[in-house]
Amino acid sequence: MPLSEFALIDRYFRNCGVKRADVRLGIGDDAALLDCPAGCDLVAAIDTLVDGVHFPRGCPAASIGHRVLAVNLSDLAAMGARPAWALLALTLPNSDEAWLSEFAAGFSDLARGYDVALVGGDTTSGPLCATVQVLGHVPHSQALLRSGAKAGDLVFVSGTPGDAAAGLAVEQGRLAPTSDVASYLRKRFLFPSPRMALGKCLRGFASACIDVSDGLLGDAGKLAHASGCGVELNYREIPISEALVEAVGDARARELALTGGDDYELCFTVHPDNVGKLRHELPPERWGYSLIGSIREAPGARVLENGNVMEFSHSGYDHFGG
Ligand code: ADP
Ligand code: MG
Repeated sequence: MPLSEFALIDRYFRNCGVKRADVRLGIGDDAALLDCPAGCDLVAAIDTLVDGVHFPRGCPAASIGHRVLAVNLSDLAAMGARPAWALLALTLPNSDEAWLSEFAAGFSDLARGYDVALVGGDTTSGPLCATVQVLGHVPHSQALLRSGAKAGDLVFVSGTPGDAAAGLAVEQGRLAPTSDVASYLRKRFLFPSPRMALGKCLRGFASACIDVSDGLLGDAGKLAHASGCGVELNYREIPISEALVEAVGDARARELALTGGDDYELCFTVHPDNVGKLRHELPPERWGYSLIGSIREAPGARVLENGNVMEFSHSGYDHFGG
């Protein structure tokens, strides 16, 4: 017999994530009651994953549960905020319990990792779609914005972008590297790691920050545009993983790093006077970020190699021949 909506919520979502003392009232009433700490701004983000659009049909349920939370946590990381609470609106074609249990486990494992409580949501029937809203906080006026960069600021990115786009290609059978490389790349797409600690520690260092979800070049361009500036990235400085190079070669790896999506890394800018302190307090080897370019007065986002501007089609995915 299919689960009732009430039983489904009770079984899979009532104990999802952590319990937090600042949740006065969680799942079960008409709305949740939350205690926001004094001196903090409330930070809110929401993102939707649609079946066949934001993940391939048949994608593992644990990955969907993980990603729908991860993409929101990444937005909070980019603001320098600490996450606290999440709401989940889930539309399901049926109440497949094996699927639900995997989905809830994927969501809950990540929520526990970042001390997030699931405090409410909505459950409806229809084509598979998951929306999460995350709420968190940041000390008053200390949030990292896209709009704070100035010409001359240096541009950094965390991690090795491009892996997730290649991981999606592996997942869809468009790319078939050796099994170790394939499993690394798939994991980078299916289970992205939001850079929460880095985002929080960048408060006081970064003049601007954005999370990289739609491709590094485009997202660095959005940051620059919001700051009333342009950005130049150095082709040779773009960090790429050995696995990605092994899978697609150096040139395509760089192209995917610049134009692929779903990385959930942080791209941030730092005034040159603060770079020494940044490197001292957050050693790049340990925190895993790289210097990739600088903010310029001239608008637009450019990639340079030996002083020459390179052209990108912004369609890294096509290069697998799909
Ligand atoms: P209402 O009819 O008032 O919208 P619901 O019956 O939709 O209430 O939900 C009952 C309770 O369960 C509410 O507290 C709601 O926030 C919570 N809830 C519903 N669906 C989910 C879900 N997928 N995850 C977490 N909480 C949920
Ligand atoms: Mg409802």
